[in-house]
Amino acid sequence: MAQLNPRQREAVRYVDGPLLVLAGAGSGKTSVITRKLAFLIEQVGIPGRHIAALTFTNKAAREMKERVGRLVDRKLTRGLTVSTFHNLGLNMIREEYKSLGYRPGFSIFDAEDAKALLQDLMIREASTDLGDELSDIQNAISSWKNVMRSPGEALSHAADEREQRFALIYQRYTEYLRAYNAVDFDDLILLPVQLFRDDPEILAKWRRKIRYLLVDEYQDTNLSQYELVRLLVAERSAFTVVGDDDQSIYAWRGARPENLVQLKTDFPSLKIIKLEQNYRSTSRILRSANEVIANNPHVFEKALWSDHAIGDEIRIIRCASEDAEAERIATEILDRKLKRGLGFKDFAVLYRGNHQARLLELKLQGYQVPYRISGGQSFFSRNEIKDAMAYLRLLLNPDDDAAFLRVVNVPRREIGPSTLERLSHYAHGRGISLSGALREMGAETQVPEKGLDRLRRFAHWAERTCERLYREDPIPVIKQLFTDIEYEEWLHQHANTPKQAERRMDNIWHLVESIRRMLDDDKGTGESMSIEDAISRLILRDLMEQREEEDDSDRVQLLTLHASKGLEFPHVFVMGLEEEILPHRSSIEEGTIEEERRLMYVGITRAKETLALTYAAQRRQYGEKIETIPSRFLDELPDEDVVREGLGEKDEVRNRAQGKATLSALLGDLEND
Ligand code: ATP
Ligand code: MG
Repeated sequence: MAQLNPRQREAVRYVDGPLLVLAGAGSGKTSVITRKLAFLIEQVGIPGRHIAALTFTNKAAREMKERVGRLVDRKLTRGLTVSTFHNLGLNMIREEYKSLGYRPGFSIFDAEDAKALLQDLMIREASTDLGDELSDIQNAISSWKNVMRSPGEALSHAADEREQRFALIYQRYTEYLRAYNAVDFDDLILLPVQLFRDDPEILAKWRRKIRYLLVDEYQDTNLSQYELVRLLVAERSAFTVVGDDDQSIYAWRGARPENLVQLKTDFPSLKIIKLEQNYRSTSRILRSANEVIANNPHVFEKALWSDHAIGDEIRIIRCASEDAEAERIATEILDRKLKRGLGFKDFAVLYRGNHQARLLELKLQGYQVPYRISGGQSFFSRNEIKDAMAYLRLLLNPDDDAAFLRVVNVPRREIGPSTLERLSHYAHGRGISLSGALREMGAETQVPEKGLDRLRRFAHWAERTCERLYREDPIPVIKQLFTDIEYEEWLHQHANTPKQAERRMDNIWHLVESIRRMLDDDKGTGESMSIEDAISRLILRDLMEQREEEDDSDRVQLLTLHASKGLEFPHVFVMGLEEEILPHRSSIEEGTIEEERRLMYVGITRAKETLALTYAAQRRQYGEKIETIPSRFLDELPDEDVVREGLGEKDEVRNRAQGKATLSALLGDLEND
């Protein structure tokens, strides 16, 4: 407590009613949540298992858990929930799946599975290939789910024929998910909300379980998440949420900064505490951030200050090309590391889109600078991991058609498309899954004998493996699975180099190892985690992050601005400060510049000591070189806090002329004295 300022202490101690901590970047909001967890357990005496803290990412959850672990005795934190909204939702569904009408071993569809299902559906239902509308439909469904709109409601609210069509597909999509015993990502929040609304008894049970709720990054909650919070805390209103409306950067995913205002309406006794001291950045960095964000309209006024030293000027670096930009960043990191005796991990490079990292990666490799990318391709989007997870999903839930289709011919089993087509036709006719169809299908179905035989062998193998998975120690069974299917050979046949195949197989072993650890970990706590639990939890966890965390070696961090939220680094580069990149072209077209400005604000406020903003004067686009326009946000920085580098000749002349002008003005003043 002694390490907190009086306002922070007040926020930690206040447990008499609902509390909103509204404060700018780096003011210690996340620190308040961490300390408050300790306070609730140790001082207020609420057992850890009755407290839940929700974070925005898995990485943030892990960090918070670790910090609490350092503050509080391990025994007391037992059962404490520190997780993302989605993880909490998953736990709820796992416990209540029966009431929700699901069978054990339900699957979680990721975006790609959901997309495959939708595509399949559209071809079947609309009998046209609506391929280019696919992501529109997927987005529409996600938005409907985020505002808790059922297919029926979506249909009756449909504004035009197109929306009607989408709503009908939404309807069928929902039915299919049910038939497959599967939930999608948005369901992880939506289903608990629906259940709590429909079943007061179950709601009461969860209210008894979660006696105090805390939420970090509250400005980025969407409507269904807010509803989940509202339902859980009820009249007791025992909650603390912290947020910063200036850091709301997920509107495109349904986030509603209005939820901050809504709180005051829904909980009239809401107490608001504002934190105004920033502990992260130098005064110049903070002043720059404040000036930039001042260009956005504000509902809440905040005044952030810092008593850190003024610090170095913010550098705006103009580079001739994107290549020169990457080169400049790479060499600067090397140079500064050597001159100032820093570690590589003291540097972070932030950018608007993942593709911007590619050139930089090449340069860093060229200079042998170690780096780590987060927010890029996740472990789970790797093909081999998707294959492995599909196998595991299929074993646990034979009705998971998405998993079935993914692995039925991986490795090749010579099961042709027409065989699958007939199987699928039969299954749909009977309203059952592919595995179900296989079980009851007879000779009358016109599936070629050979194909049917192969399918049956596959199904039989899966059944046997599944039985063993439950009966025996799961880890050897899973390892055997990859031997059975000769997966390593398959990888070698499909990789460009043997090394690539080995790396992929390593990823598989890393996955198996993680499952083993989850099963083992749990033995310690006395709560048993079944293989089903372990796998469904895995689907949600970004293993890549986990791997990164294990590997805390000295590396430069490369990440998107979105992924950088909540983090801090001593030295930050933000690259690509050009119109159409930051602000992004689509937001210029759609007039959502304010969200881009918040993104810029998030970027600036990640820096503790130095900040450099780079842009390329020319950039290759569609194979052509184009002249770029420096980002408008650069003009919003306070002149006295920036230096411009790498300007063209003309600009240099102007700069010098300006320099002379001020010098002579100064001399003039002196003479006048
Ligand atoms: P963001 O808006 O970026 O999420 P935040 O408000 O959550 O930031 P924290 O990450 O909690 O801020 O804190 C920023 C930094 O300030 C951290 O390094 C933290 O350890 C430090 N800090 C927080 N409170 C204090 C304090 N009272 N005294 C000294 N340092 C502090
Ligand atoms: Mg924070």
